[in-house]
Amino acid sequence: MNFAKIKEAEAEHYMPVFARDNLCIERGEGNCLFDINGNKYVDFVAGIATNILGYDHPVYTETVCKQIHKLMHVSNHYYTEIQSRYIKKLADASGFKRIFLANSGAEANECAFKLIRRFFRNRGEEKTILTSEGAFHGRTLATLTATGNRGQHDVYSPLPSGFKSFKYNDFEDFKSKLTPDVGAVFLETIQGECGVRPFSNDFMINAYALCKSRGILFAVDEVQTGMGRTGKLFSFEQYGIRPDIITLAKAIAAGIPMGACLATEEVGTAFKLGDHGSTFGGNALACAAADAVLDILLGGLLDSSAEVGEYLGNKLAHLSKYNFIVDVRGMGLMRGIQLSDKIPAAVFESKLRERGYLVNVAGNNTIRLLPPLTITVEEIDGLVAAIDEICAATCVM
Ligand SMILES: *Cc1c(COP(=O)(O)O)cnc(C)c1O
Repeated sequence: MNFAKIKEAEAEHYMPVFARDNLCIERGEGNCLFDINGNKYVDFVAGIATNILGYDHPVYTETVCKQIHKLMHVSNHYYTEIQSRYIKKLADASGFKRIFLANSGAEANECAFKLIRRFFRNRGEEKTILTSEGAFHGRTLATLTATGNRGQHDVYSPLPSGFKSFKYNDFEDFKSKLTPDVGAVFLETIQGECGVRPFSNDFMINAYALCKSRGILFAVDEVQTGMGRTGKLFSFEQYGIRPDIITLAKAIAAGIPMGACLATEEVGTAFKLGDHGSTFGGNALACAAADAVLDILLGGLLDSSAEVGEYLGNKLAHLSKYNFIVDVRGMGLMRGIQLSDKIPAAVFESKLRERGYLVNVAGNNTIRLLPPLTITVEEIDGLVAAIDEICAATCVM
């Protein structure tokens, strides 16, 4: 199929939900993608924080291929060694004793919501979940309800009840919403879709302390920020807090669909037999991939990528000298460059693409950088030089 035919088929047959870029990807190698015309791009999107090992990582690819030959999928009615090996490793690495394996971020979050409800139902209580404005937790009805997007709420109402929200990073508002009906707080440490918006250290520490003092569960959506993205295995470590529940997906199996809900022993044993489940969740293929990812991370990639993430932060700092760059923020290999409304981020993105760099546009007119954790200093230098070149040309205009 040529590109025109590819686009035509998509336009005719895919449900019209994606505003796709004018780019058709054929293959990946290292930290680069190639389009169908053979053009090469250094990838600072990584399938939205998913392909943390880049493309065709030798150990990962070999592990996945071997597992496909051996066993891909059996029902969760049976045990598999690979699933047990993996959850033991993940529990050891995370300090969370109880794990449920799903297939996506939304599903991991659904599991967390059900777990929270079950936890309180076991005590004869019914509690509300408090989420942040600007949050993104997924696209199922419940995760959409927890997501701070009013427009989508109107489209898909009636929504499940039992959720309410507080103003992002506003501790006074948070405190006022933490009424006795609230059983759990559910948030991202850095709001990804909203334009890489981190909660302040003060907010996080105070919110966490207040929840702990009142017996309110603290849950962190680490779907985007987890698995080394911010320079630690999980972003909550950056704040020195210890949630009761976290959720993972995106990078957890580096491109094979997988999600996970992790909880403390006390919370994670609230479910009763038959309360929750999944056909595909934690199947042999996904567990083998995730097991390889965790080995590679703990075997050195986590540490080396933390250094590269610092480097990226330092290299981007000078961009604030351009008057149309409003803010540069983020942690590790998760960075946002917010542009003034006069320069649409989409235009900036396409100029970078012309220069061989793929970046992503997130909320608040922000260029979002989420490269593979294997990204090199040279590749970062190249991106920053391209950004500077575009900025210099923009100043003249
Ligand atoms: C992407 C994302 C989700 C949803 O994950 P899916 O796999 O698309 O369902 C949930 N929370 C956060 C923070 C995300 O970035």
